[in-house]
Amino acid sequence: MLTAASATTGLILSAGMTFAQTTPAASPPAQAKNAGYYRFRVGDISVTVLSDGLIGGPPRVYASDAPEAELQEVLRHAFLPTDRMTLNLNTLLVETNGRRTLLEAGAGQTMGPQGGRIFQNLAAIGLRPEDIDVVVVSHTHPDHVGNLRTADGGKAFPRAAVFAPRADWDFFVRNDPDLSYMPVPEDFRRNFAAAIKRSVEPVTTGIELYEAGAEIVPGLTTLPALGHTPGMANFLVHSGNDQLLLTADLAYHPIVNVDRPWLPGPDRDKDTALTSRQRIFDMAAADRLLVLGFHYPFPGLGRMLKTDAGYAWVPVNWQF
Ligand SMILES: [Zn+2]
Repeated sequence: MLTAASATTGLILSAGMTFAQTTPAASPPAQAKNAGYYRFRVGDISVTVLSDGLIGGPPRVYASDAPEAELQEVLRHAFLPTDRMTLNLNTLLVETNGRRTLLEAGAGQTMGPQGGRIFQNLAAIGLRPEDIDVVVVSHTHPDHVGNLRTADGGKAFPRAAVFAPRADWDFFVRNDPDLSYMPVPEDFRRNFAAAIKRSVEPVTTGIELYEAGAEIVPGLTTLPALGHTPGMANFLVHSGNDQLLLTADLAYHPIVNVDRPWLPGPDRDKDTALTSRQRIFDMAAADRLLVLGFHYPFPGLGRMLKTDAGYAWVPVNWQF
């Protein structure tokens, strides 16, 4: 029987006869892999998750108070490596009334070589960086602002107005932040702080600083979600009765920060971050909101279920 593989390669069939290929092979180009974008609608608004790729680190960083044996067991039960946790970078393009707003800029190469895919995923949906009108970041960690700068130091989104939370700008950009709370080596902290300043340098003139709670463009409300950083916001995209909640870095990976209550090590004020997490997860569960987790497995969409022990993450079905 002719298999798909033999049909495209035109090689030897099981009966020993040679299949003479008469049409060009329909094999995909070498660089074509899986989709890094995912489109759906929120009411009248067209939205697209655009992956910027991956980052990651030791699981302990993202589950700072987990008992070691339990952490290892949870990772093993999820068929995940026990020495490294991979995180996604799920930015969201919001298209409404002819305006294109990008929520989170993504990491670029600031936190490893697997970031920076947003531009090829934009191209895959027929857009260029100059087609973006507005960029809003939830906070100014490098994995959320890294793509604001081109390799030669220019503006990566040349026409876009860029919005960042004022308290983060004051803490990370206008000052030299004390990052001793982060459970990472000193040189990592130094590079992290430098990557923020370097990434936002091209947009410093003209930066729009916002207070969480403001509606930045019609259909996009920001919500205070403080604690992870001094100014972190969450985003609510709304149209008619439809809503989508973007939880930024309230949690890194659902298996350690939603299904288990472990605290992310990079949270600067862990008590405030916990209060924000519970307040927003409770709202998401009560209102059955569709949620996008910035770092969750692509495309990062699901719902929060309230359980006796806390919460559970329930991914939604893929839409074609
Ligand atoms: Zn992040």
